Amino acid sequence: MTIKLDGRIVKFAVGEDSAAPEAKSPAPDAPASEQSAKGTRADGNSAKGAPDGGAPRSAAPRPSADVIQMHEQLERPEELVGATYKIKTPLSEHALYVTINDIVLNPGTEHELRRPFEIFINSKNMEHFQWIVALTRIISAVFRKGGDVAFLVEELHSVFDPGGGYLKRGGKRVPSLVAEIGTVVEEHLVKLGLMERDEPDEIQRRHIDEIRRKVGCEDGQFPAGAAICARCSTKAAVMMDGCMTCLNCGDSKCG
Ligand SMILES: [Zn+2]
Repeated sequence: MTIKLDGRIVKFAVGEDSAAPEAKSPAPDAPASEQSAKGTRADGNSAKGAPDGGAPRSAAPRPSADVIQMHEQLERPEELVGATYKIKTPLSEHALYVTINDIVLNPGTEHELRRPFEIFINSKNMEHFQWIVALTRIISAVFRKGGDVAFLVEELHSVFDPGGGYLKRGGKRVPSLVAEIGTVVEEHLVKLGLMERDEPDEIQRRHIDEIRRKVGCEDGQFPAGAAICARCSTKAAVMMDGCMTCLNCGDSKCG
């Protein structure tokens, strides 16, 4: 078989199958599940040899084993870095503390990737605690499976407390405590660059500024009589020119 080369060979490896070169250079910004599925199993042993999450020092038999992907068999390093978020709700006098720890894969290489590894929730309020522990264990297991974990945020956000949820300072309605835990996970994943926040763009921003100016609430304090916006759940929808208009997200419904 003859292969025509169009470019200069920069790197080469002797692969057992044609999939090897692909597995060697995954797109750096795409921790897609296929990738982890592809490169994972072969990495199991070398990952154990490098519990700090670093590149394995032992000679790798296959080039695809160089890049460590997220997978369940990845051993927890002794030390992880993370962040703790405080959730204060009107449901309990005690706050909830949510800690999300991350693992840094392939540190110092072009494949360096920081991914969430585990979540803990602590509170003085032990009511419902077995369910909270169950939730954290399952979320942690999903983190460790690798792949796209952003769907967790959507799932948590769609949990509605039959008691009606509660209002946060600033007038945002939170449908449930679980949904607020979802917001914490979202904040963390946005920080790690694993998901984008649903924020208004420049044009929407200007539109919001304009309607706020009209009502005279430029400081972001919404009128006391405002209704809850169906889009962003914030108590910021007011009647403007015959349309219910949200002063928080700019959403508008006429009639
Ligand atoms: Zn809104």
